Amino acid sequence: MIYLDNAATTKTAPEAVEAMMPYLTDYYGNAGGIYRLGSESKKAIIRAKETIAETLGAEPNEIYFTSGGTESDNWAIKAAYESYCGRGKHIITSKIEHHAVLHTCKYLEQRGAEVTYLDVDGDGLIDLERLERAIRPDTILISIMYANNEIGTIQPVREIGEIAAAHGILFHTDAVQVYGQLPVDVRKCHIDMLSASGHKFGGPKGIGFLYIGKEVKLRAFMHGGQQERGRRAGTENVAGIAGMEAAVKRAYRVMEEKAKRETALREYLIEKLMREIPDTKLNGHPVKRLPGNVNVSFASVEGEAVLIMLDMEGICASSGSACTSGALDPSHVLRAIGLAPELARGSVRLTIGEDNTREEIDAAAEALVRIVRKIRATAV
Ligand SMILES: *Cc1c(COP(=O)(O)O)cnc(C)c1O
Repeated sequence: MIYLDNAATTKTAPEAVEAMMPYLTDYYGNAGGIYRLGSESKKAIIRAKETIAETLGAEPNEIYFTSGGTESDNWAIKAAYESYCGRGKHIITSKIEHHAVLHTCKYLEQRGAEVTYLDVDGDGLIDLERLERAIRPDTILISIMYANNEIGTIQPVREIGEIAAAHGILFHTDAVQVYGQLPVDVRKCHIDMLSASGHKFGGPKGIGFLYIGKEVKLRAFMHGGQQERGRRAGTENVAGIAGMEAAVKRAYRVMEEKAKRETALREYLIEKLMREIPDTKLNGHPVKRLPGNVNVSFASVEGEAVLIMLDMEGICASSGSACTSGALDPSHVLRAIGLAPELARGSVRLTIGEDNTREEIDAAAEALVRIVRKIRATAV
C-alpha cells in the first residue's frame, strides 16, 4: 500500500502509542482526584501543556485540550461571537476555510452574525488590502486558516495578525495543517486563538487543542466540571493528551528535515505529473505551499474515477478534501480559486508524509500516467 493522504490523517507514531499505554493501563486515575493515582494523570496533562506552549511561544495555561480541530474551530468562533457580540456582530473569514469554520460561520449567521467570506486569488491567497477594506467598526473576529488542507496554500498569517491587532480585532487561525509540520509562533503572528489537531502530525485521533491567548475572554465551550480551568469540562483524555505530546516532541525533532524531504518529493512528483500527463494543472500556490501537498487537475477526467483506480493499485489519495468526497460537487476551495468545473472535477490530492519513499512517489506517478491515459482513451 502507498499512503498519500496525510492531509486527511497520519499514521500514529510508535512513540505516541507508547506514551499512551500507561494511561490506558496503570494510570487510569482521574486527574481531578486527590489520591496519588490521579496525580500521575494530572502531571501528564501539565507536562503536555508545557511542551505545546513552548513550541508556540505561549504559556501552558493558554493551551486547552479539545477533541480535535473541529471542536477547536467551533469553540473559537462560536465563543468569540457570543463573548464579544456586545461590541459588534461582524466576522471576517475566507471562502476556502475548512467546513469546521465555514459551517460554524453559517450557523452564527442564523443567530445574528454578519459574515464576510473573503475571496482568494487563483493561487488561493487572500488579498491583504481586501481584508483591510472588509474591516468594519463592528468587526469582532478574523478567522483565516494558516494553510489550506486541499491545495496547500500558506497564508501571510503574520501580516493578517498585524492587521487584526492594529484594529483591535481578535484573530483566530485554523492551523490544523501547519502545527507539527512547520514552525508556528503565536506572539510574532499576533494570533489570539489557534486550532490544532493531534492526528494530523502523528498523534492519536480525537485529541487536539485550542490556544487561547490569556487576554482573550472566551466563554466556556463545555459546561460541567472544573477541567481546563472551567472552560472545557469533562474528564480529560489523558492517554490522548500524552500521545499527542509525544507526537509534538517527535514532530519538532524531525520538523526541519522532514519538511525539506517532503518538499523535494512534492516538487519531484509535480514536475513528473506535469511533464508526463498533458493538460495537467497544479492547484494552489507554487511555493507558498505545505511541504507534502500535491493537488493537480487532469482535464477530461473524473477525479473520483482516478481515485478508485488508484485504490485498486493500493494507492490512497483523495479528491478535493476527504470531508467532501462522497458528495460529487466540486469542492468549495477549487471553486474559490476559479477553477473551471470540468477541471475541478478532475482534481486529485496526494499528500506526502514522513514514511513515503522516492520509489513510492515514482510508483504513484506511473500509476497516474497510466490511469489518466486509460480514462481519456475510453472517453468519447
Ligand atoms: C482535518 C482538519 C480539520 C478537522 O480536524 P479534526 O481533528 O479531524 O476534527 C480542521 N481544519 C483543517 C484545516 C483540517 O485539515
